[in-house]
Amino acid sequence: MGDLVYTALPRLLIGSLDATKVRDGVPRGRYGAWQRRIRPTVFGEPAFDIELVPTEVCPARPHIWAFTAWKRMHTAALDSGLDSGLLRIYSGYRSVAFQKEIFEYRLKERRTERRRRGLPELEDRVLRKLQQRWTALPGKSAHHTGFAVDLGLYELGIRQGRKTPEWAWLMQHAREFHFYPYLEEPWHWEFNPPGLVEHLKVLREALGGCAPYEHLLNPVFDL
Ligand SMILES: [Zn+2]
Repeated sequence: MGDLVYTALPRLLIGSLDATKVRDGVPRGRYGAWQRRIRPTVFGEPAFDIELVPTEVCPARPHIWAFTAWKRMHTAALDSGLDSGLLRIYSGYRSVAFQKEIFEYRLKERRTERRRRGLPELEDRVLRKLQQRWTALPGKSAHHTGFAVDLGLYELGIRQGRKTPEWAWLMQHAREFHFYPYLEEPWHWEFNPPGLVEHLKVLREALGGCAPYEHLLNPVFDL
C-alpha cells in the first residue's frame, strides 16, 4: 500500500461536508422504503483520484467505500441465487464536466428527434426544462459524489426492473449494506452510511496533508 500515488482531482463541485445537512432516511412511497438521498452539494466530487476505484477493477469508477460495500452486497445476493448481471455496476462516478456533456448530447438528440417527427421547434430554454425530467442537470446528480451506482437493472427499464426478484431483494436487504434506493429508478442505489461525512473529512485531510492514510481507505461503517 505504501507505493500508492494519488492526485487531486479537478473539481467543479466542492461539497460543504456539513453533517447536519445529511437527512435521515424516512419511509416513503407506496413501497414504504427508506430513501436517504446523497446530496452532491454536501459531498461534492471526490477530492483525490485514490478515492475512486481504478478503471481496471471497475470501469464505472465508484467511490472505493461504495464499491467495497457493493461487493459484499453482490456476494450476498448471489448466494441467494440472484442474477449477477442485473446487479453489476453499470454506472458509478460521473464528474460535473461529464454530466454537462451528457446533458448537451441528450438535448441535441431530443431536438433531432422532434425535427424527425415533424414537431414544432422549441426554444432552448423550454427544451432544457423538458430534458431535466430525464437527465439531471450538471451539479445536481448524486453520481458526482461517487456514492451513487446504477445497477444492471437499468437495462430493463422502470416497470420491468421493479418486477424482478433482484429489486425485491435489494428493497429488503440493501440497507444492511448501507445502500438506499431512489424510488423513481429501480436501478439507482446510494451508499450513505451514518458517519460518511466525518469519514470523508478525515480521509481528505490526510490526503491533502500527505499524512498516512492507508488505514482510512477501508473504514468500518456501523449500522
Ligand atoms: Zn443513477
